[in-house]
Amino acid sequence: MQFDAELLLLAMAPVFLACIGWEAWHLRRTRPGAQLYSWRDTLCNAALALMQQAADKLAWLAIIPVYAFFYDRYRVYTWQASWMSFVVLFVAQDLLYYGFHRSSHRVRWLWAAHVVHHSSERMNFSTAFRQSLMYPIAGMWLFWIPLAVFGFPPKQIVAIVLINLGFQFFVHTQAIGKFGGKLGWLEYVFNTPSIHRVHHARNDRYIDRNYAGVLVIWDRLFGSYVEEDPHDAPVYGIVEPLHTYNPLKATFHEWASMAADFVSVRGWRNKLRALFAPPAWAAAYHARRAAGASADAAASSGDRRIEENHTAAFQTPRRP
Ligand SMILES: [Zn+2]
Ligand SMILES: [Zn+2]
Repeated sequence: MQFDAELLLLAMAPVFLACIGWEAWHLRRTRPGAQLYSWRDTLCNAALALMQQAADKLAWLAIIPVYAFFYDRYRVYTWQASWMSFVVLFVAQDLLYYGFHRSSHRVRWLWAAHVVHHSSERMNFSTAFRQSLMYPIAGMWLFWIPLAVFGFPPKQIVAIVLINLGFQFFVHTQAIGKFGGKLGWLEYVFNTPSIHRVHHARNDRYIDRNYAGVLVIWDRLFGSYVEEDPHDAPVYGIVEPLHTYNPLKATFHEWASMAADFVSVRGWRNKLRALFAPPAWAAAYHARRAAGASADAAASSGDRRIEENHTAAFQTPRRP
């Protein structure tokens, strides 16, 4: 790739803003009273985007030499710049993104960063801007190291990560229904607004599904796909709602909660659970603590909740 993906995304900024403007106008006409946009929510999303962009700029300075280290010392192949190598890089990174995203919903340490993207109770184009400056600390960049070993230069890795995230802007909307008719095939190949609405929902049958970045084939292959049901509208947001538009609280609340749980539970097994168990462990732990249970009893109830969730994840979703 002989172009600068950061410049490409910068050039896309007016398109992103135009989409937000069109969607806000369109939804006010077609769904008056639904209030799918709020100024406070959108401003919070914009602040989170700017914070994340600034942190990312700094983080790449530290991360690119790490990719260069793996590329120089351990690469197993050297790709010549071509459309073929672009397609291979794109598909490989999208598969790794699936792994990163699924892990982010199953490991609390990664969820602590990713939760920011999910904590709004609205779903519109501006939700795509809702990102965490803590991704580099959580270790998102670790997931792309295999690309360096696979023989892709660091700058191409950064570019493809940005392109993947840029595409995902377009799936954050309620203004576009499920594709049908001649465009119905899109729902089988690509992540679409319908597929990604499901991902942002906390309904029992939707939660922790549809992890696709650009291609939905990974969800279909690995059993995490579920279809949007017109009789079960997505309820957006997280299991333990945030109740704030403060971007700093949105960024750090889960880290603070994780640290508090780490301190309050006893024994290293439980302390490791507080950091690395699925987020469902924390929700169950907090519920039992609020009901007056001791830290030890609450920690073990979190374990049972994980087992239930694990079983449910491999069952066909319930019909409403
Ligand atoms: Zn997610
Ligand atoms: Zn999203």
